[in-house]
Amino acid sequence: KPTPNDLNAFWMPFTANRQFKQNPRMFVAAKDMHYTTSEGRQVLDGTAGLWCCNAGHCRPKITEAIQKQAAELDYAPAFQMGHPIAFELANRIIDIAPKGIEHVFYTNSGSESVETALKMAIAYHRARGEGARTRLIGRERGYHGVNFGGISVGGIVNNRKMFGTLLGGVDHLPHTHLPAQNAFTRGQPEHGAHLADDLERIVALHGAETIAAVIVEPMAGSTGVLMPPKGYLEKLRAITKKHGILLIFDEVITGFGRLGSAFAAQHFDVLPDMMTTAKGLTNGVIPMGAVLTTAEVHDAFMSGPEHMIELFHGYTYSGNPIASAAGIATLDTYKEEGLFERAAELEGYWADALHSLKGLPHVIDIRNMGLIGAVELQPIDGQPTKRAFEAFLRAYEKGILIRTTGDIIAMSPPLIISKDQIDTLIGTLADVLKTLP
Ligand code: PMP
Repeated sequence: KPTPNDLNAFWMPFTANRQFKQNPRMFVAAKDMHYTTSEGRQVLDGTAGLWCCNAGHCRPKITEAIQKQAAELDYAPAFQMGHPIAFELANRIIDIAPKGIEHVFYTNSGSESVETALKMAIAYHRARGEGARTRLIGRERGYHGVNFGGISVGGIVNNRKMFGTLLGGVDHLPHTHLPAQNAFTRGQPEHGAHLADDLERIVALHGAETIAAVIVEPMAGSTGVLMPPKGYLEKLRAITKKHGILLIFDEVITGFGRLGSAFAAQHFDVLPDMMTTAKGLTNGVIPMGAVLTTAEVHDAFMSGPEHMIELFHGYTYSGNPIASAAGIATLDTYKEEGLFERAAELEGYWADALHSLKGLPHVIDIRNMGLIGAVELQPIDGQPTKRAFEAFLRAYEKGILIRTTGDIIAMSPPLIISKDQIDTLIGTLADVLKTLP
């Protein structure tokens, strides 16, 4: 059983207090692709922080925009007031969003974007006289943050089992990662689209008139980088549309270039009714999220004074000036440096590097798409998760940062990574895998 100090080493920022020892792994500085540790070592960032620093670290344009904004207009209420910078950022987001997405609702994190989208979905139907549509559908192995709505629709049983009944009226689609897919797939697996048909079963069980929305990550990140099978998202779209159910893509990880296009919706060419975003929106530097919606969802959501009074929703820091300025500077950086295109260009090189790990001890699957990838390891009998965590520790000692989820090693480097740095990242990981118990 982990002691408080073990947990502290895992979750230092959230549990720090005087009783706990120092975290053994502390960062004191960062620049571009590297962190500097408290011992003065350089660590190559193979994960873009927590999948968020897509432009790399301490980028001058973003830092300067934050400093300038903090000195000029530090805060303005989003409630009954406003400021032009939030509108400018909203327009900039819409410029790169899929055609058909026209509105931005600001939040402060991915979790808040998810809660907001779920509430918007229910409010949308209510405004259209379909108040019975309150049920929500998520997916097994989906991750949608840690708030109550998010853990309810999320598909990680461990994250919700101690919190009681949570949101009522939630069902989960089966997850799309079939055992047979342990086939070192590049891009989308061929098989598994039929799993979307399970949505018809859920609809038949409860009646379409009770269902508000389906929420899925277009590519599940946190639970192990699980690619949607070919045709899966298209089928979800067709079935939801047929039954008047909203489709929400949780693009908190996939948004802002990770798959080689601004959003996964464009990568897969499937238009959802709403997209939840955060992380890469401000390069992870300042907390900010946003729910992006079609005009139809927005207009119903915002319709009529009575509806608006009942609806009350929004946050103290929604669209705050400093985060908005960071967002604009981040989108400028992505554009000026062509980072989304860069992710697409590097996809093949990244895939070749990752798949070169095939055949190394314990490696049972490798998956990749855009600039994200996963290496799945054979669990040690009776001790799932131990081997990948050991790999994480050894990799850190050798100067690379990777992330582990159970037996899966995930990597999502900043989109500024060079080919040499890809070689270093994967070469070091190869050395680690060769020596694992
Ligand atoms: N949704 C997805 C798909 C995520 O990956 C995450 C975070 N990893 C969240 C929601 C929650 O975001 P946050 O941690 O900013 O609340």
